[in-house]
Amino acid sequence: MTVGIVGAGQLGRMMALAGYPLGLDFLFLDPSEQPPAAALAPVLRSAFTDADALAALARRCEVVTIDWENVSVAALRSLGRGTRVCPPPAAIAAAQDRVSEKRLFEKLGIATTRWRAVGSRRQLDAAVRDIGLPGILKTRRMGYDGKGQAVLRTAADLEGAWARMGQVPLLFEELVPFDLEVSVIGVRGRRGECQVYPLNHNLHCGGILRLTRAPFGNARLNRLARAHVLALMEHLRYVGVLTVEFFVRGGKLVANEMAPRVHNSGHWTIEGAVTSQFENHLRAILGLPLGETRAKGYSAMINLIGTLPGRSRLLRHPGVHLHDYGKEPRPGRKLGHLTVVEDNASRCDRRARALLAEVAPEIHIP
Ligand code: AMP
Repeated sequence: MTVGIVGAGQLGRMMALAGYPLGLDFLFLDPSEQPPAAALAPVLRSAFTDADALAALARRCEVVTIDWENVSVAALRSLGRGTRVCPPPAAIAAAQDRVSEKRLFEKLGIATTRWRAVGSRRQLDAAVRDIGLPGILKTRRMGYDGKGQAVLRTAADLEGAWARMGQVPLLFEELVPFDLEVSVIGVRGRRGECQVYPLNHNLHCGGILRLTRAPFGNARLNRLARAHVLALMEHLRYVGVLTVEFFVRGGKLVANEMAPRVHNSGHWTIEGAVTSQFENHLRAILGLPLGETRAKGYSAMINLIGTLPGRSRLLRHPGVHLHDYGKEPRPGRKLGHLTVVEDNASRCDRRARALLAEVAPEIHIP
């Protein structure tokens, strides 16, 4: 049984690593020369928008899924009814555009930031008047890891941001003075059955995720987040893993964005949950029974960004799990991650602090 994956990055690579023990095979589609998943499975080299290449992938696979949401939804739809695409293209389309994402949150009663769509300089001025400063200007499409964003603090910031970003459709929203950031990961199977992982606490720096701790938060916050991801999955008739990121302010959840895929904040589930997000995504899209999402202890996941410290240095830390994605080092690039799992939260934080001191001294656990 072959799973076709559009995008052969580290998420696809970890999906394949989770799928081989289940007896699955993989075929990827990706435009880059040596993507991370190429070490594990064959890659059809083509643009994500190439409908012929997608059709060739679909012909050779039981099901087609994605490891990167900025694929061409039109090309996925052109595959027709004979091809099973998971998650459904409508869900991918909703997550690709920040405006349709916000509207969906609002429709389902999920609190989100105050926002305005911005298509002209005049609309930017009006949006800033309505929402106020400070605010954040984001490209509606193709934003990830803090790319395509500008924080506007004073009226003097508008001109430069507009000159840099004004060529594409934008969204302006309030800058939330959040207490912390969390994410929730849910999975829905083909028959509508669902499982939800415990809440993740995420620390970002420069828009890039640096540290995740899970399970996190009290029962009330977990219940709220769970209800939101379940509502989204139900509404979208979703199949696969869905992630929703939130700001937490005064004990309330404010939805930031969603990702129609396995997510960086769920990497801890490889060692830290009964079933990893990668395995559960595969189980869901193949119509197999979903696995338990319970945490086996307390986990911390640290991203390795820009440079990869020596293996032997990292592995000296007791209990550490190293994931090296096999990517060329480049500033700001996610090259790998570390996970520790402990049976209590304070021991987990202690281990994480020792690792952070070595690989990311600028990141502090509150
Ligand atoms: P995004 O690509 O929208 O997930 O943004 C990346 C990160 O930038 C978030 O995880 C936050 O740390 C920060 N950020 C984005 N939007 C806002 C906002 N409206 N208010 C405060 N921080 C934000």
